[in-house]
Amino acid sequence: MSGRGHHAPDTPVGRLPHPDKSPRVANRAPHTGVAETSSFDTVSHYFDVAADRLGIPEDLRTVVRTAYREIQVQIPVKLRDHGIHVFSGYRVQHNGARGPFKGGIRYHERVNLDEVRALAALMTWKTAIVNIPFGGAKGGVNCPAQDLDETELQLITRSFVDKIAGVLGPTRDIPAPDVNTNAQVMAWMMDEYGKLHGDAPAVVTGKPISLGGSRGRESATGRGVVCAYREAAHALGVRPDATRVVIQGFGNVGSWAARIITQLGCRLIGVSDTTGALHSQAGIDPEALARHLAEGGKLVDFADAEGAIGVEAITPSELMGLECEVLIPAALGGAIHVANADSIRARMVIEGANNPTTPGADEILDANGVLVIPDVLANAGGVVVSYFEWVQNLQHVSWEEREVNDRLAKIMRRAYGEVQERAKRGDLVPLRIAAYELGIERVLEATRMRGYGGYA
Ligand code: GLU
Repeated sequence: MSGRGHHAPDTPVGRLPHPDKSPRVANRAPHTGVAETSSFDTVSHYFDVAADRLGIPEDLRTVVRTAYREIQVQIPVKLRDHGIHVFSGYRVQHNGARGPFKGGIRYHERVNLDEVRALAALMTWKTAIVNIPFGGAKGGVNCPAQDLDETELQLITRSFVDKIAGVLGPTRDIPAPDVNTNAQVMAWMMDEYGKLHGDAPAVVTGKPISLGGSRGRESATGRGVVCAYREAAHALGVRPDATRVVIQGFGNVGSWAARIITQLGCRLIGVSDTTGALHSQAGIDPEALARHLAEGGKLVDFADAEGAIGVEAITPSELMGLECEVLIPAALGGAIHVANADSIRARMVIEGANNPTTPGADEILDANGVLVIPDVLANAGGVVVSYFEWVQNLQHVSWEEREVNDRLAKIMRRAYGEVQERAKRGDLVPLRIAAYELGIERVLEATRMRGYGGYA
């Protein structure tokens, strides 16, 4: 008894079922949106469109499309209320031609090998597009993080690191936070790795500042999203004071993007999380909403909270269809799919999440004239500041936040410009395809120079 057709309808997504219901919580089919293709097929599709345009022969394509190494480990843990539960942990190292493997670790009950593989490939292209000296990797554990307490999360984290520590290292593979993991989880990872190999802060990024984390890392992905907005707004002639923003997801990426974009003068008119969605033409104050959530409130109840002017609850699908200048998907993959793409009334979609748009939806958005700023560019701010953290750790120095933010903005601006320029070259192509082309070229060049597989 498992799978989405069988799970009790009253079991919220991401929650452990009650012990007397089905004990199986792992490997449910993804059901965010309409999955027209698997996650890896989505990334492969975009890769192939770009590789076709670059005229890359099939054998060489296989070298850079497929993963270098895929690890799946068993993580048995005794949970407070559920006895021993066996989770699966994954680490996929996709490509290391340009430097050590790099990418986050996510904790979510729907994590599976296909998804981790897709996210690892995205990291390969992302690090190449922003031109930082890393390859691409991703990891995950299929645990329902929101239902676990600190002790359980720590046990899972340490057990996972024990099993994959052999392939990690500051010059080998460097994890970071992703969905449902944070600085605390990174601290446990660093500590566990240190027990086995000696203290090595540069083995993970996104650590607490007290343990060698970088200033500005927590807000970096959201800040990078806003850098992408600035460049796109400039290109489209959209002014911040005439920009209505809708954000799907109010976790690390969504909440920071909301805070930083409203500081520019943009108006946040819609926001959602797993509990529901909110709308206000007058604008939602992201700081007040963040405080409300930090105090244990639910997002949907913010409509009645102090300081919430004209805020009403709407459905998640109404949120996606709100008329706005900027829509930022900042939750899980597959949020924009063929069934809702046509309802999107935004001038631009900035992909804060990884893999939020299915290929079918991408075509619809393109046909409707919506500018899509792809994940591999738009959300690269996180890994860029991870790179800064790694550099600081290796040099035993600590930068001011101002320096981090300035350097981040510079890299984002450069990458956006390079992608945009390529998109305009000759026949116009979407930014996503231009970005992939740039990333693929850089990875192939590194592959060629290393002399891998006889390719010279
Ligand atoms: N998880 C983030 C991403 O998807 C950051 C990865 C990192 O910093 O290594 O880009």
